[in-house]
Amino acid sequence: MTHQRSHEVFTRARAVIPGGVNSPVRAYTAVGGEPVAIASGQGSRVRDVDGNAYLDYVGSWGPLILGHAPPPVIDAVRDAAALGTSFGALTAREADFAETLCRLVPCLEMVRLVNSGTEAVMSAVRLARAATGRDLVIKFDGGYHGHSDGLLATAGSGIATQGIPGTPGVPEAFAALTITIPFNDLEALRAVLHARGGAVACLIGEPVPANMGVVPPDDGYWPAALAMLRASGALLIYDEVITGFRLGLAGAQGWLGVTPDLCTLGKIIGGGLPVGAFGGRADLMRLLAPAGPVYQAGTLSGNPLAVAAGQAALRALETTNPYPRINALARQLAEGMTRAAADAGVPVVVNIMGSMLTGFFTAGPVRDFADARRADTRRYAAFFRACLEGGVMLAPSQFEAMFVSAAHTEADVAQTLEVMRAAFRKVAA
Ligand SMILES: *Cc1c(COP(=O)(O)O)cnc(C)c1O
Repeated sequence: MTHQRSHEVFTRARAVIPGGVNSPVRAYTAVGGEPVAIASGQGSRVRDVDGNAYLDYVGSWGPLILGHAPPPVIDAVRDAAALGTSFGALTAREADFAETLCRLVPCLEMVRLVNSGTEAVMSAVRLARAATGRDLVIKFDGGYHGHSDGLLATAGSGIATQGIPGTPGVPEAFAALTITIPFNDLEALRAVLHARGGAVACLIGEPVPANMGVVPPDDGYWPAALAMLRASGALLIYDEVITGFRLGLAGAQGWLGVTPDLCTLGKIIGGGLPVGAFGGRADLMRLLAPAGPVYQAGTLSGNPLAVAAGQAALRALETTNPYPRINALARQLAEGMTRAAADAGVPVVVNIMGSMLTGFFTAGPVRDFADARRADTRRYAAFFRACLEGGVMLAPSQFEAMFVSAAHTEADVAQTLEVMRAAFRKVAA
C-alpha cells in the first residue's frame, strides 16, 4: 500500500494549516506516521488519494450511521441546494425538523438548532446557569463536550478536583467553574453536591461516554445520579451528540429510561453536514431569546442544506430501523475481537453499547477514564497501523469508538476480523 499522494497532500496542508489538519483528532500524533488523505466514501468504505480502499469504522467520528454518501441524504442536499443555500430567515424545513426531533427524543419539548455540537453544549450550559442562577458545572473526568472554554477544563483524578484549564488560552477563572468527577462513581457526585450543591447549575455528561472510548454506565448509576441532582436543585444535561440516534431513535435517554432536563445533539442529526441542537423542558427553552432573556444566535443556524440532510437521515432511520442489525454486527465484531486478542495472547477488553465499541488494550475492566488510561497506547498504535495497512480504518487514538453503520455487512465484519487477527498476532510479537 503506497501513501505517496497522501504524503504530498499532508506536506502542503502542514505548511498552511496548523498541524496539517482542521481538527486535532485527525492527526496521527498518537499512532505515528502521517494521516492518509481521503478522496471519497461510498457505503462502508473510504478511498484515499492514492486509490487505497479501507473499511471505515470512523464514520466521520459518529455522524455517518447510514454509511458514506447514502442516496436519500445526497438527493435531499442536491434538491435543497437548488432552492438556495441560506436565507437567514424562518423556513418550513426548520419547523418540520424540530417537530421530528421533539417527537422522537423523550426530553425534547422544544429545541433550537445550531451549527455544531460545541455550540449546542455551550448554549445549553448557558441556559442551565441562567435558569438556576448558579455558576458551577460538573462534568466527568475524560469527558469531551466540544472545545468551549469552560468545558476543556480537565483535572487529575480524585473527588471534586477543581477544574484547571486543559489548554493554554483558557483563563483559570473560567476553568474554576468546572468540577470534574469520575464517571460511574455516585460517591464522588454525592461529595461534590454535599460540598458545593447550592452553587451547582448542572451536570453535563454523555449518558454513555464515548470520548474516552466507550464506557457503559453501571446499572442504576443514572437514576441515582438524577435523584441526587434533583435534590440539590441542579439540572441534568445529557450530551447526546454521539449517542443521539446512535443508540436508537430515542437516543441513550430512551435506552436507559432516564429523561434529562436538557440534551444536546449533533453528528447524526446533520446527516454528515454541520448541525447541532439543544433542547428539553419548554419552561427552560422559553428563557431563550427572543422568547426570553438568554441570548443565543447563529447566522447559519437551521441552514437549509444541513436541515435537509438531517431530516433525510432521520427519515431513513425511522423507515428502515437499522438498529437491531447494526447492533448485532457490532456484537459480532466485539466478540470476534475479544477472541482474536485472546488467541494472540494480547490483553484486550472490548466495551460495547449498541453499534459503538472500543477495544481497550488492558486486562482490567474499564468503568471510567482512569481505567481507560491504563491501556497500552503504544500497542494500540501498532495495532492501528497494522489494521490500516490491511485496509481497515480505525480512529487514530485508543480513546475513541468504532462505529458500525447500516452500510456495513456481515462480509465486512468477517474481513475486518481477518485483518484484526493478523494485527493482534503482529502486536503480540
Ligand atoms: C463531537 C462531540 C461534541 C462536539 O461536537 P462538534 O460538532 O465537534 O463541535 C460535543 N460533545 C460530544 C459528546 C461529542 O462527541
